[in-house]
Order: sequence, then C-alpha cells, then structure tokens
Amino acid sequence: MPKKEIYDVIIIGSGIAAHSAAVYLSRAALKPLIIGAPEPDQLSLTTVVENYPGFPNGIMGPELIENCKKQAQKFGAEYKTAWVTSFKKSGKNYEVGTDKERFVTRTVIISTGASARWLGVKGEDKYKGKGISTCAVCDAALFRDKEVIVIGGGDSAMEETLALYKFAKKITIIHRRDSFRASKIMQARVLKLNDKIKIIWDSEIVEITGNKFVEGAKIKNIKTNKKSEIKCQGVFLAIGHTPNTKIFEKLIKLDKLGYVVTDKRINTNLPGVFAAGDVQDFIYKQAVTSAGTGCMAALEAEKYIENLKAIGEY
Ligand code: NAP
Repeated sequence: MPKKEIYDVIIIGSGIAAHSAAVYLSRAALKPLIIGAPEPDQLSLTTVVENYPGFPNGIMGPELIENCKKQAQKFGAEYKTAWVTSFKKSGKNYEVGTDKERFVTRTVIISTGASARWLGVKGEDKYKGKGISTCAVCDAALFRDKEVIVIGGGDSAMEETLALYKFAKKITIIHRRDSFRASKIMQARVLKLNDKIKIIWDSEIVEITGNKFVEGAKIKNIKTNKKSEIKCQGVFLAIGHTPNTKIFEKLIKLDKLGYVVTDKRINTNLPGVFAAGDVQDFIYKQAVTSAGTGCMAALEAEKYIENLKAIGEY
C-alpha cells in the first residue's frame, strides 16, 4: 500500500485569512492543502469592500476572495471543499478529518472564522446585504444621511454606533434590556452623542420590513408588549459572534468566549498549530487584519517546518 502523504501545512477555513496564508505558503513551495467549508465566508456575503487597501474604487467581497484564491492556486495551493469534522494528534503530526477523508500534516493553520449571530426574525433573510449588515466598519459609509438602527447592547453595538455616527442621519439603538452590557467607557462615548442617537430600551425587533431594500422595522417592548414601527434604511446587528471552534475545543486552548488563544506570534498551545483571522480575534475583525494574521501564520508555519528539518525530525 502506498505510504499516506504527510502534508507540510493544512489550512482549515475559506476566508481571507486562509487564502492569505495559502498565498505565502504556496509561494514558499510548501504546497498547502486548504480545506474550506461548503458555505460562504463572511466577505463572500458582503457587497462592496471599501476599506481594503489597494482598491481605490472598492472591490466586491466575493471578488476579493476569489482573487486571493486564484493567486494561491497559481502558486500551487491545493483546495478541497468539505466540513472538517475532526482534529487529532497523530504521533508528532496532526490528523485532520472530513466526512470523506483523513489527512496527516506537520502543521495546521486554523482560520475557521467567527459567524455573526442573527436574530432569526421575519425579513432577516430577505434583506441580508440589502440594508441588513453585521459590520458597520465595513458598511457605514453606504448609509450616509440615512436612518439606521443598531441592535444589541455590548461593546460591538457601541462600536457599530460610533462607526455609523460619522455617516448616518439618525441612529436608533434597540436593546432588549434597560442597561447596556458594554464597557462603561464605550457606553459613555455613545451616550454623549445624543444629538442623533436615540436609545429604545427593553425592546426587540419582531420583523424587518421593506420592498427591494430595508425600509423599516417592527419592534415590541418586552415589558409592556406595546408594538411600534420605525422607519429606517439600515439595520445593523451587533448581537455577538460565535467563533467556529467546536472541533478544536478538546485540544486547543480557547478563551471563555470560545476564541482560539494565540500568542504574539500566532502560536496556539500546540506546537505547529497556528490560528489566524476572526477565529482568534474579537477586537478588530477586519479583512486586512485577517489577511495580516494569515500571513503571520504562514511565516511561522514555514519556520516551524524548517526547524523540523534542521533538527532531523522532518
Ligand atoms: P456581547 O458582549 O455578547 O453582547 C451582545 C449584545 O447583544 C448583548 O447586549 C445582548 O443582550 C445582545 N443580544 C444577544 N442576543 C440577542 C438577541 N437574540 N436579541 C437581541 N439582543 C441580543 O457581544 P459583543 O458586543 O460582540 O462583544 C463580544 C466580546 O468582544 C465582548 O467581550 C466585548 O467586550 C468584546 N469586544 C471588545 C471590543 C473592544 O474592546 N473594542 C469591541 C467589540 C467587542 P444582553 O446584554 O441582554 O445579553
């Protein structure tokens, strides 16, 4: 029986962190295998990306991802589409399993991202990308002089509001309780901008309405059950993200929110296993920072392989 190939690097994920790592590793002739989920990454669900350097007229999110993938493939990166269902140690290597195959690798880059949480209310699916966004830093400029609502009461909701403040005509924050969860300093920044920010407490969205694009939202006060309707052109959801780390939780150190814990050089607790992008970052969550950490992970993986060769353990 032929001996099973041992990969130098397997990258798990299909977002910009994964493709950026793949570009660096394939250019270093390490022939990475990238296993991406059969569902779109966050950028592929976005419309125009205006803050990724190098594109003065912006670039569509799906196009940016496709370009990065083509760039990596040009240098020899191998792509497979499958759900990764297992991650194990295999002697001094690692075994990555999908529902169909098992792969052995010397290093792993985890870049499985974090999925924005959705409300699950009527109209949400219909208006995704048509007025509903989960990233104000990405999309705020598209809502210049428009009326928008932000849902949530955590630091992300405060950040989204601050990002929108520069552009939107009016921002209404809708929160399900009567106090914010966000840090005091973030709350203070938002609360002092009361010229165009309004807060509706104890309320939840029950439906997002519109025609071709978002035109409003129906809300309900959960203490009084009183229903009302707000006119708006944008709905920004900031009710948290869930890092996609379930399959790693037995072996990889995660923080209390489930994000992979990495050091300054992007190492996880396991030798030869690195993490890049939103799966290890709940603060910046930007395409460019994800690409940056993807590059860092690739350089560290390359160094790790060189070291294995130098000490005769390759
Ligand atoms: P979060 O702290 O979990 O806050 C989520 C907010 O959404 C909460 O106010 C929550 O309400 C609300 N929410 C959750 N599910 C909801 C639902 N189904 N319907 C309506 N509202 C819902 O999430 P986050 O703001 O994304 O922050 C995550 C972590 O990242 C935090 O540790 C935060 O400090 C950190 N973070 C830091 C920075 C920064 O340092 N600059 C920026 C962003 C995030 P309740 O309050 O009632 O639970």
